[in-house]
Amino acid sequence: MNSAVNLPAPQRERLPIAQRRAEEKLSQIVPDPAALRLLNTARHASSARQRVIWLQRAASAWSKPLQTVAACRKGCDHCCHIPLTVTQVEAELIGKAIGRRPTPPATSVHLLELGDHAQDWKTAQTQLQASAPAGPCPFLVDHQCGIYEVRPLACRVLLNLDDDELLCQKVEGVEVPVPYANAMQLKAHYLALQPAGVLADIRAFFPPQHS
Ligand code: SF4
Repeated sequence: MNSAVNLPAPQRERLPIAQRRAEEKLSQIVPDPAALRLLNTARHASSARQRVIWLQRAASAWSKPLQTVAACRKGCDHCCHIPLTVTQVEAELIGKAIGRRPTPPATSVHLLELGDHAQDWKTAQTQLQASAPAGPCPFLVDHQCGIYEVRPLACRVLLNLDDDELLCQKVEGVEVPVPYANAMQLKAHYLALQPAGVLADIRAFFPPQHS
């Protein structure tokens, strides 16, 4: 991937403005205390399935105040076209909700085989993203999420804190530094609370079905 200097002028010029906007918005946000309560419930739940369910609820509570200032709008689906890593547990929750079993993914990462280092995780993530099947998320229907109530944690927390979707537009070969809300704490719990988790792209768990 090339760096942001290779961006078209409108996006390149927007970067510092978007960064300032995001910082300003974050300084005004009042966090929802329910997010921490739900996170604690997730940490003490007895099964990986229950932990993921509570984590998803925590993620929704965490994102609620941010949604009021984010650029994200109903019908905007840029982020449904980028790679999306989920765990087997999360895929099974989706599968149960829609009555379809997840497929064993062709490319996956087993958390037990990863070391503790952030670099190992970054390498695995890059590998999953590079092998992600092309195309939009299989659950994108008419520019809207077809599994909204059971959508993965990653979708609940991906919020662009700019004022519009300019920086979400895909630029071939360049990783655009969108000013996303920082969900590192939730994502770290997501991995730590599923220590035996198997990760893959959502398209690998749910490949297109041909009738
Ligand atoms: S699960 Fe829903 S929100 Fe997430 S990428 Fe797919 S369609 Fe978009």
